[in-house]
Amino acid sequence: MQTEEKPIFAPETGDMSAEDFRRAGYEIIDWIADYSQNIEQFPVLSQIEPNWLKDNLPKSAPEKGENFAEVLKDVDRLILPAVTHWNHPNFHGLFSTSTSAAGIFGEMLSAAFDMKAMLWRTSPASTELEPVVLDWLRQMMNLPAEFKGLIYDTASISTLHALAMAREKLNLKVREKGMSGRGDLPLLRVYCSEQTHSSIDKAVILLGLGRDSLVKIPTNERFEMDSEKLREAISDDKSAGHLPFCVVATIGTTSTTSVDPIDAIADICERNNIFLHVDAAYAGSAAIVPELQPYFKGWERADSIVTNPHKWLFTPFDLSILYVKDLDLLKQTFSLVAEYLKTSETVQNQMDYGIQLGRRFRSLKLWFVMRYFGQEGLIKRLREHCRLARLFANWVDDSNDFEMLAPVPFALLCFRACPKSVEDLDALNEKIMNEINASGAAYLSHTKLNGVLAIRLSVGSIHVEERHLRKVWDLLNGKMEEVSRRGAEFAEI
Ligand SMILES: *Cc1c(COP(=O)(O)O)cnc(C)c1O
Repeated sequence: MQTEEKPIFAPETGDMSAEDFRRAGYEIIDWIADYSQNIEQFPVLSQIEPNWLKDNLPKSAPEKGENFAEVLKDVDRLILPAVTHWNHPNFHGLFSTSTSAAGIFGEMLSAAFDMKAMLWRTSPASTELEPVVLDWLRQMMNLPAEFKGLIYDTASISTLHALAMAREKLNLKVREKGMSGRGDLPLLRVYCSEQTHSSIDKAVILLGLGRDSLVKIPTNERFEMDSEKLREAISDDKSAGHLPFCVVATIGTTSTTSVDPIDAIADICERNNIFLHVDAAYAGSAAIVPELQPYFKGWERADSIVTNPHKWLFTPFDLSILYVKDLDLLKQTFSLVAEYLKTSETVQNQMDYGIQLGRRFRSLKLWFVMRYFGQEGLIKRLREHCRLARLFANWVDDSNDFEMLAPVPFALLCFRACPKSVEDLDALNEKIMNEINASGAAYLSHTKLNGVLAIRLSVGSIHVEERHLRKVWDLLNGKMEEVSRRGAEFAEI
């Protein structure tokens, strides 16, 4: 950035003048516009060595305020090289997630308001916009009206709240007595599959249930929870005197985006009076696409559902939604009103529904995104991502050098190179992935499936087009040519 003309120094007291704010502000907006426009020129993964940024920064804060123009220059000089570009259309690692212009503007305004949504009176806008926006999305996802949403930062936190709620439902007086030193509590059990996200482990750790309380049910060859094994595990635990109280089923697991058999799991939960939490952190957004609805069959029977618009709905990080049927139970789990927070309004106060007192005004950016793109615009983009993923899967299927390793319900592929000439395919695939990543041309990540290394390719950027996938496919095939030229030697080192 180059705020050359007049320096921008802080006044003796108070904040930046409106005039300086405008000058710096316009420049930052220009900078963001250029950045978005030219994003493909950057290496997807930051090319710095660890500690490069740290070593290039002063050890303590400046004594006197600096010209803000100098700070902006350092964004180019120091920060930018240390950025891994999540918005790059060839970011295919982990889950490809990206922000959008409307989302950025929402984030800017919420920073400007800087409200801490705790009580209605401290933030009527956040308190009232949030349920409306979440109800819009609920309708788009075809969930029944009994689901009410709350925004948290991440799925990990949404799920933590869901599990706390499930435990509260047992009426074990954990709020007052805790869980330690009590002889009157059986071993509480939570169930999920082997493919479930580690946030469930973290939630049971944090809730004092312990990882021993978490039972991981095996999955079938499609990486979906084996509901028969779930039924057996619950029945065995009951016979042993344990207390099964919660099942976490996933629509769109993190490794392969597999879908657990929700209807069968819901049957088991109903029969055993067990709380059902559905983790749809990644795939939940796909419920807005009519032809993908079959993957969500039965999720309306859950007690709670988590979905992350920051993953696949072009909303800047962070924004995760927990939909619950029993909002009163959530309130009963967390509400604690100190004297200085008591107010006369009979309204919903957001502080009553979670660990945090103050909450960010997150619904604003989702509202911007939903209004700017509209339902049709969002559906179209997700549908296109799924089409591109299927197209890539077809290329893999038609190739003798590559094979698919998992089904593709949404827009994530798991595949690997499998040339006949190479014995150690794990080493080969790791090398291919590392070389592509190091080149900066694209970012791929990996997972282990049935003991073998799979390359994961996620399609989810708002900027992604067919040519970007073609580029990755060409890079992969280029590596295959090297393999056939250099034989097994390629895979060594
Ligand atoms: C990404 C993901 C999470 C964790 O999401 P955060 O919002 O980063 O906590 C949880 N579950 C699934 C299935 C995910 O894909």
